[in-house]
Amino acid sequence: MSALRRARSPAPPEAASGPPIRALPSSGRAALRKADKHRVRKLAGGAQCAPVWLFDLDNTLHDCSRGIFGAIDTAMSRAVADTLGLEKAAADEIRHRYWKRYGATVIGMVRHHGARAGDFLERSHNFEIAPLVHSERGLARKLACLPGRKILLTNAPLRYAREVLNTLGILHCFDGLWAIDHMTLQGRMRPKPSAALMRQVLARLGVPARRVILVEDTLRNLRGARQVGMRTVHVFHPGTPFSALYSGRGLYVDARINAIGHLLVGRCGLRIPRSPDHE
Ligand SMILES: [Mg+2]
Repeated sequence: MSALRRARSPAPPEAASGPPIRALPSSGRAALRKADKHRVRKLAGGAQCAPVWLFDLDNTLHDCSRGIFGAIDTAMSRAVADTLGLEKAAADEIRHRYWKRYGATVIGMVRHHGARAGDFLERSHNFEIAPLVHSERGLARKLACLPGRKILLTNAPLRYAREVLNTLGILHCFDGLWAIDHMTLQGRMRPKPSAALMRQVLARLGVPARRVILVEDTLRNLRGARQVGMRTVHVFHPGTPFSALYSGRGLYVDARINAIGHLLVGRCGLRIPRSPDHE
């Protein structure tokens, strides 16, 4: 992806953390250029009822295939191997099985091996993050040009998510960070694509599901969002695990892009209803 480059590391602002949703107006509207305003209005269906954007993190807001995914892979395998006393090959097999079955390796480790979630997540993301973070150009400006609240919704741990957003210089663009640390419901971890999680997110947002757009690289998470009525944008990335299994565009995908900037330039074809009456 030629538009990708090494992200800068601006001074991090004090921004959102758990509890995840802040009732703040979306930042950056003053930075909208005239042409962008027209495109965004067309996309979002008018400023009167701006959408709420849920952004995934890995392979959505940044490119994991250029280093960071390898680091996660290595650290995750090491964490599984150390926890269970296994060789790397056996740890890799277990890790992939749990990721595929539960959407997050940590759930399998907690359910089947009694691992402590916090400890496991810390060990599995224990590497130097900043040098490995890459994104498309002008990401902060592009996010600022999108009307409506932006919430990060990631199955990654909060500390890692904050560091990636800080490195990308986009932490201030978000009104809330919803990480796997916040995805425990009735004592059980419920990451994406859990319908229970999605319903909890909707309840906290307090807007109709059709006003909420999940932007995400993992198709099964988009399918989960659609099951509760959200709109969906698929960020296609060949580096996403199991992406080769999904060559088509499911009926639950409203739009498909390969850069966040495409949300602004009208290439995604997404339309958001003007009012709840359109539900
Ligand atoms: Mg992802």
